[in-house]
Amino acid sequence: MGRFLVLVALVMLAVWLLKRALARGEQGEIGRQPPVDGELVSCARCGMHLPRAEARAADGRLYCGEEHARLGPELP
Ligand SMILES: [Zn+2]
Repeated sequence: MGRFLVLVALVMLAVWLLKRALARGEQGEIGRQPPVDGELVSCARCGMHLPRAEARAADGRLYCGEEHARLGPELP
């Protein structure tokens, strides 16, 4: 009877370890995936970094806002 209980305890421990390993693996997958629309681009005028989804495009360049899109790229 004692051996049976030890066997049950070992099986439960194995199942718990397996579940924990699987949960950790799933978290790792999520952590490795890039965030949606999280790609950072830099403003052609001031160089500020912002998510691509928030950037304004003008003349094939990306800007941080309407004002800098209107002003155009920084002159050398
Ligand atoms: Zn800017």
